[in-house]
Amino acid sequence: MSDRDDFKRTIVYGENAVGHLRKNELPAYPRNYELWYTYAAGFNHNLNKAINDIIRARGKITVTELDRVYEQYVAPTRIGERIDEVGGRLSAEISGFAGMIDTQMASTSVYSTSLGEAKAALGSATDSGSVEEIVRGLIDATHQTETVNRTLEAQLAESRKQITELQESLEAIRYESLVDDLTTLANRKHFDQTLSRLIAEAEHGARPFSLLFTDIDHFKKFNDTFGHQTGDQVLRLVALAVKQNIKGQDMAFRYGGEEFAVLLPHTEIEQSVVVAEHIREAVFSKELVKRSTGENLGRITISIGVSEWRPGDTAATVIERADSCLYAAKNGGRNQVRWSLEAPGDAKGIRVA
Ligand code: GH3
Ligand code: MG
Ligand code: MG
Repeated sequence: MSDRDDFKRTIVYGENAVGHLRKNELPAYPRNYELWYTYAAGFNHNLNKAINDIIRARGKITVTELDRVYEQYVAPTRIGERIDEVGGRLSAEISGFAGMIDTQMASTSVYSTSLGEAKAALGSATDSGSVEEIVRGLIDATHQTETVNRTLEAQLAESRKQITELQESLEAIRYESLVDDLTTLANRKHFDQTLSRLIAEAEHGARPFSLLFTDIDHFKKFNDTFGHQTGDQVLRLVALAVKQNIKGQDMAFRYGGEEFAVLLPHTEIEQSVVVAEHIREAVFSKELVKRSTGENLGRITISIGVSEWRPGDTAATVIERADSCLYAAKNGGRNQVRWSLEAPGDAKGIRVA
């Protein structure tokens, strides 16, 4: 997707968002703008459905309803805020622990002072009355220590429960931060991390890896004709076709809007081109039928560019090569795979699969 396309598309969403703000007489605070921008982009189905339901029922949406919708459908996607929240709770738990340790230490010190005093008093006790008093004092001190211990035990058990919950939240955040909601493929962030790791491995002598870039052909037209929601279903379908045609250590990612990437560790380009062909054919072979209406939507096709890591490559250069092959596939008429075995700095040598 070129920057120019991004520019045009996002400006339309932005203008659309401002239109909604105006119509509903809402202040254009970043939060309201974000909500309507997300609505205009149409990628968050639950959000759009919630807003449409309210507007259908009442014609207009109030600030309170908007807040509720935001909290329910936009806020949960804000991983940064959730990390902050978990961080805050974790730090409260740690302070709680520090407090418990202080209490435990103070209680132990009071008890050992009581023991020391009792020992000294016993040495100079002359009658059974004073011994009895010393023993009573010791029993009191023991009771107090027991009470403190019981409270600490309960606090520790509660803290343990909280920490287990926090651990689960962190794992969920970590998982979600690496997964794309719509397609359940790994996301762009995960792609960047994996690519860096593969480059480091290749630089340390591992067999080279390959990179596939796929882009749906004329997808804008498809969206314009059949609507964004149907477009999203197609994205899920293409993601599935990608996933079903890779195996072993290969990993599929949603790189951007309608662009997917596949990383194939320890795989030479010739083998990767075969995989790319399988993916292309799998997408092309499906006749799309809208489940709700039975309407035949025809076929969609994808174009694919393939590159292989060569010594001297950086993330940017491997990506750039796969991207220019993809571009060549588009220019060559789409629905095809192009690949290049160029090394960084070589003259262009894009091949047809
Ligand atoms: P080309 O064959 O040159 O790739 O043409 P194209 O229309 O597919 O152009 P481009 O690759 O720039 O496509 C971008 C379009 O993809 C814009 C937008 O309509 C659509 N798109 C991007 N992300 C999403 C998404 O998450 N859902 C849906 N439904 N459409 C998306
Ligand atoms: Mg694109
Ligand atoms: Mg496209």
